[in-house]
Amino acid sequence: MTIDRVVVVGAGLAGLRTIEELRSRGYPGEITLIGAEDRPPYDRPPLSKKVMTGELDDTSLRPDFAALSVDFRPGERATSLDPEGVLRTTRQPREAAAEYRFDRLVLATGATPVTLPGDGRQRVLRTMDDALELRARLEPGRKLVVAGAGWIGAELATAAASRGCEVTVLDLAATPLAAAVGPEVGSKTAAWYAAAGVRLLLNQGVDSVQPGGLALAGGGWLEADEVVTAVGVRPAVTWLEGSGLHLEAGIATDAGLRALEAAVASAEGPRASIPGIFAVGDCSSFPSRRYGRRLRFEHWDVALHAPEVAAANLLGADETYDPVPYFWSEQFGRMLQYVGYHGDADHLLWRGDPTSASWTACWLTGNRLVAALTIDRPRDLLQARKLIAARTPLDLTKLPNPDTPLKTTPLT
Ligand code: FAD
Repeated sequence: MTIDRVVVVGAGLAGLRTIEELRSRGYPGEITLIGAEDRPPYDRPPLSKKVMTGELDDTSLRPDFAALSVDFRPGERATSLDPEGVLRTTRQPREAAAEYRFDRLVLATGATPVTLPGDGRQRVLRTMDDALELRARLEPGRKLVVAGAGWIGAELATAAASRGCEVTVLDLAATPLAAAVGPEVGSKTAAWYAAAGVRLLLNQGVDSVQPGGLALAGGGWLEADEVVTAVGVRPAVTWLEGSGLHLEAGIATDAGLRALEAAVASAEGPRASIPGIFAVGDCSSFPSRRYGRRLRFEHWDVALHAPEVAAANLLGADETYDPVPYFWSEQFGRMLQYVGYHGDADHLLWRGDPTSASWTACWLTGNRLVAALTIDRPRDLLQARKLIAARTPLDLTKLPNPDTPLKTTPLT
């Protein structure tokens, strides 16, 4: 079958990168890009960093839709996909409906922040509009409460404190970053909050967000001029319920990023892939052979590179997506870089003193590195990535010495 019409849903990094890859691989046919936001694709990582501090106002990815020959439909939201392959959308403000047929469909709808119960105003930080509205309220002396001491909570607290706000971050967990890197490593970041003048309340749940503050679990009230909820995101896939796609940790794909069918032929048999539908970025999960499980990442680097594989396969190749994942965060004046996946690690070793300015946490399975978090140690990051990718057995007596380059720690 010739491919003449590709529709991409979601005008974020993953959607745009898919289009760029299709064109760079010589795809000559039609491309329609449907994006719920009114803006062309832009980068999200700066929203909680330089946009929040006021150093940046524009993070557009500056797509050249004329050169890419893309029919871009901003402000249009996909509302359903029926199993016969008709995509339906609505466009605000008149709720005009449209239908699309396609030879190939790429789903890149990203993720939506989770919110807390309650009638009080709570903000989230996902879009450029969210960021600009929030930034306008970060005035000196204003009481900002951030629910969630994860990556975005920490970055936002950094920026708000630097703008003179009175910042409190609270989290249900016993340490910051507990869900992301586990309590043992996360606990090493707790002191950074106080040093930046940020109050950190741990083991503290929220009952509800109310006008003027938060009703705390277990009783108690926390006054706030602004509440930002940063407790995580869910893949933006509810509109796909009933579509015939398998939704498991977002849109479940095969190793080539083709969406899987919801229906199972037999109890033991694997789900079939749907050859014409692909999913990339925060909205999707893929089976990692490297880590032996289905994984979904909310990493900029995944949205950047997964489209290379999706575009190649859309045009007939049979490539596999199985990265060593990479993520970074900038918080409290530090650069944090995480590489790998520590879900199955059996122990942890430190390179450097984790109460000092720079250190690396190394997660291992036996004598192989599976993940690393580096704090202001970019060289460790680069070398760790190579060791993880190559599954190199390491000399664990050398590894903890921060003065020994990681690349010289393989067993000889
Ligand atoms: P998105 O960027 O979310 O784009 C999806 C687009 O699809 C959105 O524009 C959305 O409006 C649209 N959409 C959704 N539903 C529909 C629909 N039904 N119809 C049409 N359009 C739809 N990652 C890092 O690695 N390092 C960082 O430091 C970092 N910082 C971050 C800071 C913030 C504040 C945020 C929000 C994210 C950060 N990330 C970071 C994560 C990174 O930005 C994401 O992994 C990346 O943006 C995912 O790209 P995506 O294209 O998959 O999804």
